[in-house]
Amino acid sequence: MIVGRFAPSPSGRMHLGNVFTALLAWLDVRQAGGRLILRIEDLDTQRCSLAKAKQLLADLQWLGLNWDEGGLKPAYCQSRRTEHYQAAFAKLQSAGLVYPCFCSRAERLANNLLSAPHLGENMQAGSCSCRSLAVSERVEKMSAESRKPAWRVCVPAEEVRLLDDNMGEYWENLATDCGDFIIKRSDGVFAYQLAVVVDDAAMGVNRVVRGRDLLNSTPRQIWLHKMLGYPPPSFAHVPLLLAADGKRLAKRERSMDMSALRQRYTAPQLIGALASLAGLQPEPRPVEPSELIDNFSWAQVGSRDIVVEDIFVES
Ligand SMILES: [Zn+2]
Repeated sequence: MIVGRFAPSPSGRMHLGNVFTALLAWLDVRQAGGRLILRIEDLDTQRCSLAKAKQLLADLQWLGLNWDEGGLKPAYCQSRRTEHYQAAFAKLQSAGLVYPCFCSRAERLANNLLSAPHLGENMQAGSCSCRSLAVSERVEKMSAESRKPAWRVCVPAEEVRLLDDNMGEYWENLATDCGDFIIKRSDGVFAYQLAVVVDDAAMGVNRVVRGRDLLNSTPRQIWLHKMLGYPPPSFAHVPLLLAADGKRLAKRERSMDMSALRQRYTAPQLIGALASLAGLQPEPRPVEPSELIDNFSWAQVGSRDIVVEDIFVES
């Protein structure tokens, strides 16, 4: 049984890119006759809120993209799942894979630029010298520093490969392409990288469909799955939607968020237009999501980013 998930972050209104990814995740699971879980990724409690999460659910319902399990129940909200992340953290710690990093934010950024200038926006700071501190130095720093440390995992100089169902083969050498990454921030909040792995395993998710911007997080997540003794899911990454100038559609473009889109289109018009962008139908004819299930295939979607023109451009 395929178990997929929607895993939105209620930090703002959904925008066109989120809807595009949600539609493809929904089609992927529905075609396989699987189950879809809705998980709320609200680790960032400063930016996320219950009101925004409720709006998100209402937008998905309006679109006709239903789910089978999850939603606003505490068991499906990351902000309420700290004990699970703590248990995984302790497991990695007892395997000797975790160490405290005493660098400041500025030091981390500088380090990152030096060690891996090609890292993308989702990559975290690369390794630093904190890894090689002696135990006694760590103990000393722990008591001396007023700032609490962040916590990193030691990655091996190992290539992790995956065969993405839409993007094809992708691999990274964890040591050189990624570096030791943070799994718990200095403010005590667990990092996204750890939380998604723990949640996917705990919820039985074996299929992950999400934006291509997260492809470069995938090797380290697969590695974390293995270190924690979980079977990694399979993946399909979705192309990004680009504005006519070739830049990624930004969240700040209000004309592309659900509040504006719902004023300008009906749900079938919006789904139909996105299906046409995805190559699932030749014309942007209004459709219900269920009409697209039978003919859905990743070969039609393709791996190239998609420029959004015409119907979504404000006249
Ligand atoms: Zn450090």
